[in-house]
Amino acid sequence: MPSNLLRILVADDEPTSRLLMQAALEKSGFEVSLAVDGEDALRQFNANPCDMVMLDVEMPDIDGYQVCAALRAEVGDELPIVMVTGMDNLGSIERAYEAGATDFIAKPINWSLIGHRVKYLFRSYLAMLELRTANARNAAILNAIPDLMFELDLEGHYLDYHSPRSDLLAGPPKRFLGRTVSEILPPDAAGECMSALREAHEKGFSTGKQFKLQLPQGTHWFELSMSRKSTDAGQAPTFIVLSRDITERKEAEHRITRLAYFDGLTGLPNRLSFLERLEREVHRAKFHGVGLAVLFLDLDGFKNINDTLGHTTGDLVLQCVADRLRLGVRPMDMVSRLDVDETEIGLARLGGDEFTVMIPNMTHGEDAMVLAHRIRELIRRPFNLEGREVVLTASIGIAVYPDDGESADALLKTADTAMYHAKDEGRDNCKFYSASLTRQAMQRLNLETNLRLALERDEFFLVYQPQLDLESGRIRSVEALIRWNHPEQGLIPPMEFIPLAEENGLIVPIGEWVLRTACAQAARWHASGHPLRVAVNLSPMQFKNPNLLNSVTDILAGGLAPEWLELEVTEGALMDDCDTTLATLHALRKAGVQLSLDDFGTGYSSMSYLTRLPLNMIKVDQSFVRGLPDDGDSLAIVRAIVSLAKNLGFSVTAEGVETLEQARILHSLSCETLQGYYFSKPVPASSITALLDKQWLLDGLH
Ligand code: C2E
Ligand code: MG
Ligand code: MG
Repeated sequence: MPSNLLRILVADDEPTSRLLMQAALEKSGFEVSLAVDGEDALRQFNANPCDMVMLDVEMPDIDGYQVCAALRAEVGDELPIVMVTGMDNLGSIERAYEAGATDFIAKPINWSLIGHRVKYLFRSYLAMLELRTANARNAAILNAIPDLMFELDLEGHYLDYHSPRSDLLAGPPKRFLGRTVSEILPPDAAGECMSALREAHEKGFSTGKQFKLQLPQGTHWFELSMSRKSTDAGQAPTFIVLSRDITERKEAEHRITRLAYFDGLTGLPNRLSFLERLEREVHRAKFHGVGLAVLFLDLDGFKNINDTLGHTTGDLVLQCVADRLRLGVRPMDMVSRLDVDETEIGLARLGGDEFTVMIPNMTHGEDAMVLAHRIRELIRRPFNLEGREVVLTASIGIAVYPDDGESADALLKTADTAMYHAKDEGRDNCKFYSASLTRQAMQRLNLETNLRLALERDEFFLVYQPQLDLESGRIRSVEALIRWNHPEQGLIPPMEFIPLAEENGLIVPIGEWVLRTACAQAARWHASGHPLRVAVNLSPMQFKNPNLLNSVTDILAGGLAPEWLELEVTEGALMDDCDTTLATLHALRKAGVQLSLDDFGTGYSSMSYLTRLPLNMIKVDQSFVRGLPDDGDSLAIVRAIVSLAKNLGFSVTAEGVETLEQARILHSLSCETLQGYYFSKPVPASSITALLDKQWLLDGLH
């Protein structure tokens, strides 16, 4: 304590005690000024204020109490004023305090101790000053902090509060005192608060716990900072809680999240948030072994709307579609409810006119289809856009976890593929993706690549199926049928690669190869004394090729008379382009080639155009022959076809004859030619000659 700087004004009308006091205090290192009475004391203090005043209580005119009161009134309560009382009684001590004295010293004075006593008084005076400054600072700090501050005990009772923004609270914070957080706050908030309290109890502090409260002003978010207040050993700990209003920060965070996770136009979640959620759902599905479906929706012809009505209308359409989708996943009626928790269904706009829907926890795959149809129906209802009616449709692809993909990305991709599949099938459509769809696509791609090389690599060969001429009971003709000996997949039947070759145009060179090979084979049979007619299948596409006639005549010029060649065409080929087709058929007939209509009865079977075609023969499709003898319809159809063909002057071949009985019936119906496994399967050319000597007797009919 820097006592040498401290000056004490001693006021006493008694000269001896004045001097003794001076001596004792100066000895203890204080500077001392002396006043002879009250009035002198006041005057001196006013002229030269000091650090402490010691007043004798009893002085003439103005006594110590009066001086004390006057000084207090003048300088406030900071100046230490010590009263020296002669009377060691409670009354005078009380009066001293009432007058504003800081302390008192009773007479008789122990002069050897008085210095220490005054030093002690000064120390506590300084401590008090420090405390006061600290308090003032703390109060200022508290006032600068906008947070609500509470003090809680370990059970969560409010002990104290500081609430500069008590306008946030429903009532005065005082009413909290003595009650617990669970009584004051709603359960969620109280839970957070108590958990922060436990953490602070354990670690000394807790930060970051948040909760929201419904206040009269609206929803407010708060964040807690809590610290354990150090207390004396054995005392129960208490906790200081700062509760900060973070509503604005939350709102900013929310806005940022919306920008990152939501589509600005429709307000739906965007691709990022959809994929993130889908990933979580896939994990959940994996963990709980439940199903999950993803619907991928694309508006049909949306580009048209943008192009013709403008982008503003386009945007409006997308908003309306989003609204309908929201409706679609939350139906009002119970009838169309799915067997899943529909509140879990997730909706998103991926971009453009693409939307996605996810169905978590799905047990029945059909639910996805039900929802897809429900959405399709909703989209189909006309949209009224600023007085203009717009009708839209959507194509929807469905992928199901885990069959169609085991990750979010994979599911989205397969749903997308399925959507394209739906579009391919004529739009306004829903399609499941099935794993076999990709497998098929891959195989097809592979097959197509190999098909291009097959001719070069000489992988095709022909087999021939004999046709029995019923009049002679002998094989008089054969049908050439193509085979593909694939290097890895082995023998591939024509039904698997002919449609593909028709799609990519390869059928033209392949067909020409068949024609050339079959004719060359027929020429060889002729040369070896076996006059056989060979039937070659022609694809519609070959028919459309203007080169067909040239190619046929060119091939025949290689050494086969035209009447030994029969070209099999299907109804499809004839329907497409009637005039050109008719011209080609006539030209071929004129060239002397035989023409037959294959698979008759399976296509349009339009009798009227049959009359206009220059055909020699029709081949009754094997599906009718298969029905014989038991199926009455088949019998009636075959009978009708045969009689019609006869009337038109065509001869009739029946395909797919597998039993003697079928052969007999067809014979009785006056078919001229029979073809089928009963006589022979398609065989290599080398096996044909052995069959030619055989005379077929259909017992009882011949
Ligand atoms: P298609 O012209 O109707 O040929 C008859 C098909 O029936 C052949 O099948 C033949 O093996 C089969 N068949 C014959 N008798 C029977 C029988 O008794 N029972 C059963 N169940 N089937 C019988 P394949 O060889 O598999 O040919 C299928 C189709 O592929 C042909 O039907 C034809 O449309 C097409 N095709 C075959 N070769 C060629 C070709 O070189 N060019 C073109 N464009 N198409 C061809
Ligand atoms: Mg055929
Ligand atoms: Mg056929």
